[in-house]
Amino acid sequence: MIRLKTNEEIEILRENAILVSKTLAEVGKAIAPGVVTSSLDKIAETFIRDNGAVPGFLGYGGFPYTLCISVNDYVVHGFPGDYVLKEGDIVSVDCGTIYKGFYGDSAYTFPVGEIDAESAKLLKVTKESLYLGVQKAVAGNRIGDIGAAVQQYAEQAGFSVVREMVGHGIGKNMHESPEVPNYGKQGKGKKLSEGMVICIEPMINAGKKDIYLHNNGWEVSTADKKRSAHFEFMVAVRAGKPDVLTTFDYIENNF
Ligand code: MG
Ligand code: MG
Repeated sequence: MIRLKTNEEIEILRENAILVSKTLAEVGKAIAPGVVTSSLDKIAETFIRDNGAVPGFLGYGGFPYTLCISVNDYVVHGFPGDYVLKEGDIVSVDCGTIYKGFYGDSAYTFPVGEIDAESAKLLKVTKESLYLGVQKAVAGNRIGDIGAAVQQYAEQAGFSVVREMVGHGIGKNMHESPEVPNYGKQGKGKKLSEGMVICIEPMINAGKKDIYLHNNGWEVSTADKKRSAHFEFMVAVRAGKPDVLTTFDYIENNF
């Protein structure tokens, strides 16, 4: 069942989305060669709590951290820990909040210092594929229109789309219906209607699409060890144009 949101609920979801956006910006300011990833988790948890909210991932399904930090060939759900970032890494940071009874959820992949041209292209194409998918999140379109836009763009650039993990509806639960795959066919899938709030989150691999799950049951890496990028927006479906709740402005104005 898809739970449609009232305008009041969408405004609370927007507050969550903006808090996640600001948290990612705080984390981004700290990302540099020599930084241990566990310190980023602390920055995020402190910032979220200082803003009167609760980390949305901490304890969710047993997840032990505030952030998912996925470096290089890690796709998603990476654990913050004793890894020390180094020049040339790419680091995906996924963050959630709970505020006023609703969730926030967004992700951004950061370069660490100077990165190689292939990695820079991967980040650029993944983010642009998100923006193209978002443009399809309009009432009357179908879920497949979003996935088709993401997939076409990513594959034309020579990259591949992870299949096993998908975007989702969001509200009082972090993961609600519908699923929002990053691949698909135009005109197929559930129809989008006003009041749906969804997370669109392409996970794009530089090499092949195949992934594997680590023994801890959470962390996901590419099978071929090539790099992967991940960007995520929360979007409210409206008539005529998408209402993007997340913003990367806080992050990118710090660069
Ligand atoms: Mg998500
Ligand atoms: Mg997320």
